[in-house]
Amino acid sequence: MSSDFQNIYISKEQLYGAKNYSPLPVVLEKGEGTYLWDVDGNKYLDLMSAYSAMSHGHSHPVLVKTLHQQAQKLSVASRALYSEPLAGLLEKLSSITGFESSLIMNTGAEAVETAIKAARRWGHFSKGIEENKAEIIVANGNFHGRTTTIVGFSSEPSYKEGFGPFADGFKEAIFCGHSCDCNKVCEASIASFEDKINQNTCAILVEPIQGEGGIIVPKKGWLKQLRELCDRHNVLLILDEIQSGLGRSGKLFAYEHEDIRPDGLIIGKALGGGLLPISAFLSSNNIMDHFNPGSHGSTFGGNPLAAAVATKALELIYEDNLIENSQQLGAFFKAGLESIDSSLIKEVRGKGLWIGVELHPHEVTAKDICLSLLKKGILSKETHKTVIRFAPPLMIQKSEIEWALEKIDSVFKDIKI
Ligand code: PLP
Repeated sequence: MSSDFQNIYISKEQLYGAKNYSPLPVVLEKGEGTYLWDVDGNKYLDLMSAYSAMSHGHSHPVLVKTLHQQAQKLSVASRALYSEPLAGLLEKLSSITGFESSLIMNTGAEAVETAIKAARRWGHFSKGIEENKAEIIVANGNFHGRTTTIVGFSSEPSYKEGFGPFADGFKEAIFCGHSCDCNKVCEASIASFEDKINQNTCAILVEPIQGEGGIIVPKKGWLKQLRELCDRHNVLLILDEIQSGLGRSGKLFAYEHEDIRPDGLIIGKALGGGLLPISAFLSSNNIMDHFNPGSHGSTFGGNPLAAAVATKALELIYEDNLIENSQQLGAFFKAGLESIDSSLIKEVRGKGLWIGVELHPHEVTAKDICLSLLKKGILSKETHKTVIRFAPPLMIQKSEIEWALEKIDSVFKDIKI
């Protein structure tokens, strides 16, 4: 928790920086594996991994070494020239995902923008949609980033208030899991997507599990039905796996739980191994080939430094058994959270090491719980007022989860309801 020393930095950030975040009151100095230390030397177990960007753990020695070695050779070259690390990353992405082609960007939002451009170009040049008429269907409760185009199709008023006007061409359908408590795939959801499809629809863009929306896991079969819908209507299925991907859900990609393949895939966050921002849009040649020189780009996108780190980060997902660990310890963590006896808890849900604990509306909010956990040495993050989310580095140990469960249990026990 913040001391006078930490308050100096907190005040400085608040004085000289835009207040577009409301951070927990702790000033970090260093990280190693699953742990973080503040500037006073207090140690914390990281159960949020920088919104899933730190899946490999903090300062992974192999990644730090790769970063150093590449930085000493070549860091940024621009796409005006070829580089060996970018060629290696593109080949690696294709070999582990089966997608023919990738376009590398930096942040997640940029990769989502790339996917939108790819879908619209495909819609125009391949499907024959009239220029400027292409439509994309998104889900309510979505989170795809913060650019003006993307917040324009968000259903969260606070993300968009005062930032308009927004881009046309997006329609909103119902995400399975938001509107009902039934046990089957939400018919209203599938029907709402089908209702919105017309001859101008080029794509459906969804997260297979909504993270920022509250770790909302759709019912089994939903994604498969969306896939079939897209096939029936010649519409692309594009999945945003920026957070759910690269092992977070207990599979390399969350769509594997449903045994389907999207037409386009968006990744980011953990791709940078927790060291650098790097993201990508992956697809087939018939979609990607609509990009030609000049139609898209980024000065830093695909730079040799980030490409070398990302290639190693992809290899380490397998070498460090991150997917298995996410699956096994995710189930263990979820079961432990489910066994906490508190009438404040409404639901525990998630997949892999990505778990949301939803509270009943109460004067004690999810943020209050996160602050109590901070005092006990645990970093976690709320989303909205009622959901505490846990997304530890995927290399976390069972003993660390056992320790965390004890602390989480004691926080709930201390609350008088
Ligand atoms: N898409 C999803 C599913 C996300 O969770 C996020 C970030 O949390 C983004 C897109 C935006 O990524 P970035 O913050 O790197 O722009």
